[in-house]
Amino acid sequence: MGGGRHADVAGSEGPWAGRLRPVKSVVKRTTSDLRRHNRSILLSALYVQGPTSRNRLTRVSGLSSATVSNVVSQLLAEGLIAEGGSEDSDGGRPRSVLEIRPDYGSVIGVDIGETHVRIGLFDWTLSVITSEVYPIADTRLDAESVAALVLQGISDVTRAAGVDPADLLGVGVGVPGAVQPDPRIAGRMLVHAPTLGWSGVALGEMLAPGVAAPLMLDNCARTLGQAEMWRGVGQGADRVVTALIGVGVGAALGSGTEGGTTGLAPATIEWGHTVIYAGGLPCRCGSRGCLEAYVGADAILHRYQSTLGSQPFHAAGTEGRLAELTARAATDPVAMETLEKIGEYIGIGIGNLINLLHPDLVVLSGWAGSVMGGVVLPTVRATAERHALSYLRGRTRIEVGRLGQEAVAMGAATLPVAHLLTTGGRRPEIMSGSGSGSGMGSVSGAVPGPGSGAGAWA
Ligand SMILES: [Zn+2]
Repeated sequence: MGGGRHADVAGSEGPWAGRLRPVKSVVKRTTSDLRRHNRSILLSALYVQGPTSRNRLTRVSGLSSATVSNVVSQLLAEGLIAEGGSEDSDGGRPRSVLEIRPDYGSVIGVDIGETHVRIGLFDWTLSVITSEVYPIADTRLDAESVAALVLQGISDVTRAAGVDPADLLGVGVGVPGAVQPDPRIAGRMLVHAPTLGWSGVALGEMLAPGVAAPLMLDNCARTLGQAEMWRGVGQGADRVVTALIGVGVGAALGSGTEGGTTGLAPATIEWGHTVIYAGGLPCRCGSRGCLEAYVGADAILHRYQSTLGSQPFHAAGTEGRLAELTARAATDPVAMETLEKIGEYIGIGIGNLINLLHPDLVVLSGWAGSVMGGVVLPTVRATAERHALSYLRGRTRIEVGRLGQEAVAMGAATLPVAHLLTTGGRRPEIMSGSGSGSGMGSVSGAVPGPGSGAGAWA
């Protein structure tokens, strides 16, 4: 995109020659675009690749050393980056490296799930400063209550960390559903999350009056994928499917961080509602035999409890019980048998993903995926291998996400960071209550098209 605009600068000189005003305005706009583009390239490279020398930065960016030197001076002066330690050069004297300054600012990531709302406060390199979890009883919550809980959480974590909410670089919200533009009101984004019972909820508008910082919304599988590619097991991978397992099941396909800018998945995948069993168990979506009806957290607990010889749970709530079941697997054969069966179903689902999308990495994530991932992984891998076509076999790694329970909140927190990186360090604007917020619209890229309106994730 930047390359195209770049070309316009030269091309516009001919036809516009002699017409001073238009030429001037075109050149002015494209020069600032170019400046922003160069800043974005260098800032993103440092962000994604870590401490880097000026020489290496010049090499990987393809920019001239004069431009690199110029932009680096600006970024240093603005406090976005710092001179760090040094790296050994080949035989020569050690070179100093440049690195991102974590103290430049902090961001909040909001994870809205079916069993909890988690608010994470991170520095802008995504290290956790503090986080707070608010369990949701196993009933459907109305959007107003969720919005109130989110605002309470933002207030709680900023107060705990002594951060002024107005100083935040932004607040990202990950929702278990699709975020799409309102066809009637320009700039307004609506959340469609059938698992929460939400259809066309203007969540951004409900939150904006209580949030002093720029606010951005997107689907949580997409943002989680971005976090896995920046800071998790997805680093360096080219085609990554992030499989998100909670009460609901979803996935997102992301591709490598070309130019180091963003790994935000271009597509969400209704993986949970792909059928793995003809005429199988009924699913919340109205169909039968969906993957989610077998490997969603509630489905797993139900399977265990209805198996002869299972023990009653001590923990209350879905999350506590799944943790208990996983811990029990070492000693309780019924628990082990249940999780092996679940691993087989997940493996079948991943085998299908491999045959359809041939990713080079599948990340098992989401709170339930993280809790049981270690136990089910061997079965998942063996089953996926068995069901993948022979020529695709052995090409796809399957890993459990390493971002832990904060993963989804961290994913949401990537939204304001991605904005900062793509604009070369420009702070996003604060969304106005009426929904004309450029801060939201520019980043909360919903994927239009079939299927994206029926997100069912946890
Ligand atoms: Zn379904």
